[in-house]
Amino acid sequence: MSATDVDVVIIGAGISGLGAAYRIAERNPGTSYVILEQREQLGGTWDLFRYPGVRSDSSIFTLCFPWEPWTRKEGVADGVHIREYLKTTARKYGLDEHIRFNTHVRSADWDSSTDTWTVTAEHGGDEVTYRGRFVFFGSGYYNYDEGYTPDFPGLDEFGGAVVHPQHWLEDLDYQGKKLVVIGSGATAMSLIPSLAEKAAKVTMLQRSPTYIFSGSRYSASTDLFRKILPRKVAHSIIRQRNALLEGLIWFLARKTPGFVKWLIRQGAVRNLPDGYDVDTHFKPRYNPWDQRLCLIPDADLYTAISDGRAEVVTDHIDHFDSTGIVLKSGSHLDADVVVTATGLQLQALGGVTVSIDGAEIKPQDRFVYKAHMLEDVPNLFWCVGYTNASWTLRADMTARATAKLLAHMNSHGYTHAYPHLDGEPMPEKPAWDIQAGYVLRAPHALPKSGIKRPWNVRQNYFADAIDYRFDRIAEAMVFGS
Ligand SMILES: Cc1cc2nc3c(=O)[nH]c(=O)nc-3n(C[C@H](O)[C@H](O)[C@H](O)COP(=O)(O)OP(=O)(O)OC[C@H]3O[C@@H](n4cnc5c(N)ncnc54)[C@H](O)[C@@H]3O)c2cc1C
Repeated sequence: MSATDVDVVIIGAGISGLGAAYRIAERNPGTSYVILEQREQLGGTWDLFRYPGVRSDSSIFTLCFPWEPWTRKEGVADGVHIREYLKTTARKYGLDEHIRFNTHVRSADWDSSTDTWTVTAEHGGDEVTYRGRFVFFGSGYYNYDEGYTPDFPGLDEFGGAVVHPQHWLEDLDYQGKKLVVIGSGATAMSLIPSLAEKAAKVTMLQRSPTYIFSGSRYSASTDLFRKILPRKVAHSIIRQRNALLEGLIWFLARKTPGFVKWLIRQGAVRNLPDGYDVDTHFKPRYNPWDQRLCLIPDADLYTAISDGRAEVVTDHIDHFDSTGIVLKSGSHLDADVVVTATGLQLQALGGVTVSIDGAEIKPQDRFVYKAHMLEDVPNLFWCVGYTNASWTLRADMTARATAKLLAHMNSHGYTHAYPHLDGEPMPEKPAWDIQAGYVLRAPHALPKSGIKRPWNVRQNYFADAIDYRFDRIAEAMVFGS
């Protein structure tokens, strides 16, 4: 079987893979690359998730690419529009011509005698092979095949429909029906107001509350910037402003949790009906940003509750029966449809088996270098965004760092580069310092973070942006040919 030779094999045609392709070609014209995508369409998350109400929960101006302005009015975008933006952008810059769809990468093996990666994938039942000097993982952070559903006792007894948001059933008819959404994360928050438009009643069943922050979907100052400034200048200013605002909210939450708790509670009290039990349903036991803060546009969830179209129940599931859910408190939730918004399964490197000269390596045994390379693994890049800010803020930095390293290697004639940790053993800290269910359930899914640069993974866009600006490309890096 012959292999297709390219300079860079990119895995995944979501925000990260497309962004990497653009930055690599921008800085290294003439570099050949291919994007291997397991699905039949591009967009990744924004193509996979099709549940009603799917939308961004961070500013779209920071989630979109810095090099391609978001032109719609709203600052919190619906999934369908993000998907459209990614498709249009890929077409505009010819990135889509490099995508090989329905190509599921299974393994990547580094051959140190030729300094190349051999990437093996499945395509229409056949095995296909690509050989590249570099491999870039834009494969996201979760398992595409299966979301997470806990083992609910008696689920088999339930006579209604059960659907996970990761695999929404497009023909699911819920008009005039009673729905229970299990979960209190961003997915549940975005689903509920939308489901409530057609359903008879939507109940959000949560074990414990989440912090919710209401923000406006539209911004007058954004409109003004766009009116008076050239398109790209306006985009850049709006993007930096929103990154700053998101960073400020995170900073305040960490430094003055009491104040932010108060602010959030005031928002709930103001938007919910008089006498609503805010403390039971919307007062978490942890501090803001210990877990992801959920953004709701224009208080839409509170409005659905106030209108009586949605309700929140804070309780634990005892078991399912044929007509719904029996709770630990003894009450019963009648349901025609149950939506298990119970989360994702964390997965590093798209489930691909990575080896060096035939010997498998485990990402969780390696430290991450500058948040995008793995200790002692040559010519491999991994793109992971922030947990406390828009994904693309870091994804774009990773793409630019990759493009810069390629240019540096080309100009010096190097054929391999790998980060190496010398000296004292490096203490570890969690790579994703957030108490999200999918992180807690799989503490060893991700590569390790150290505590000092360049080996520490930080959730701080501004500190990373400064480091990137003054980056020393040869720091802790072994080059060779
Ligand atoms: C419902 C939901 C809402 C979100 N909202 C936000 C938000 O508002 N703001 C934010 O910053 N982040 C958000 N995120 C995080 C989100 O995943 C990122 O914003 C971003 O879309 C990730 O882009 P990506 O390209 O890295 O990964 P993905 O979008 O996951 O794309 C990865 C691509 O790689 C492909 N792939 C994976 N493994 C393989 C393989 N082995 N072989 C071939 N192809 C493979 C996948 O099919 C997919 O197309 C959200 C996530 C979810 C699930």
